[in-house]
Amino acid sequence: MQSTPHKQVDVSHEEERLFVTQSFLPPLEEYQAMVAQIWESGRLTNNGPFLKQFEASLRAFCSNELVNAVNNGTIALQIMIEALGVEGEVITTPFSYVATSSSLKWQNCQPVFADIDPNTYNLDPAKIESCITENTTAILATHVFGSPCDVEAIGAIAEKHGLILMYDAAHAFGVSYKGRPLVNYGHASILSFHATKLFHSIEGGAIITNKKEHFDRCVYMRNFGHHGEEAFQGKGINGKLSEFHAAMGVLNFKYLDQIMLPRKQAWLFYYDSFNEDSRVKLQHVLDDTVQNHSYFSLLFDNESQMLKVREALHKENVFPRRYFYPSLNTLPYANASCPVAEDIASRILCIPIHSSIELESQEKVVSIIRRELS
Ligand SMILES: *Cc1c(COP(=O)(O)O)cnc(C)c1O
Repeated sequence: MQSTPHKQVDVSHEEERLFVTQSFLPPLEEYQAMVAQIWESGRLTNNGPFLKQFEASLRAFCSNELVNAVNNGTIALQIMIEALGVEGEVITTPFSYVATSSSLKWQNCQPVFADIDPNTYNLDPAKIESCITENTTAILATHVFGSPCDVEAIGAIAEKHGLILMYDAAHAFGVSYKGRPLVNYGHASILSFHATKLFHSIEGGAIITNKKEHFDRCVYMRNFGHHGEEAFQGKGINGKLSEFHAAMGVLNFKYLDQIMLPRKQAWLFYYDSFNEDSRVKLQHVLDDTVQNHSYFSLLFDNESQMLKVREALHKENVFPRRYFYPSLNTLPYANASCPVAEDIASRILCIPIHSSIELESQEKVVSIIRRELS
């Protein structure tokens, strides 16, 4: 029925290198057939048929009609911030990829960093209220490694203070919380479909809203504000996803099980290997979460131990990543103290996980780490 995914050929003859992730590649012939269709239609971008198909799949997958696909997760953040009319101070997390706070800065908002929860690594609801001033208009929190923020507590704070609530759900594709897709909490969320993410369209992203008015604004904004050929509806930017990218997204949806299921197996192997090892700590995930197993993090006792483990892994061609380091409150445009985030950022490491990782490679990773800790 379906052909098997394309196996990457090792042309290097070097010892295989294991990276923190590896992009899923669907069967090349199937992508080529889609490219042939693009050739035939002559439509390369501008809301073409693959974009429409990709968006239809995303809407069904997110159980939400108000989803807009765009050309990357960072533009998704910027359009979301703009479309929801966010300005002034925005309370955000210091423990995320830099795009979360740099896109606030890019939009002329002031990121105000509240500290994180030491177990979930997500924005700590108890730290938010003391950061609220008369200039605060919004909260932007990240579901770190796809693990849900305390959306109920944060939602209650946002409501009490009349704040706009946005989530950076770049890691949270396919996650649900209390039976509901996580991207549907808050006023709006974004996804990233970058090649290094769980589910990708090479480059790509989406904005998920819960108000038709916000959705419509995103539709105009991602296309320069065009309202027909000669009229404009407010300001815009170029956030369009090309047909080549949308086609990859459409095709990867077909292989979703082959992307997600092996990853869960791989995640469970690491979990079983480290869950009872008191020398490392695993991320806490709220009950009632259906996870996507996109990352596997290990928190070490201190930075030097983490660095020792990383060096040993590097020596054996294993390349974990320090997600996320440095803590964003220490960036040049920030000046806040977030002791919990700075501490976690200094000693956390994400180890390799992807849909075609071999058990043997995982065993190697586990044994190197155990050896270095003993
Ligand atoms: C990857 C990522 C982004 C940016 O997405 P791009 O598609 O690479 O622009 C934003 N936020 C977080 C948390 C990410 O991990």
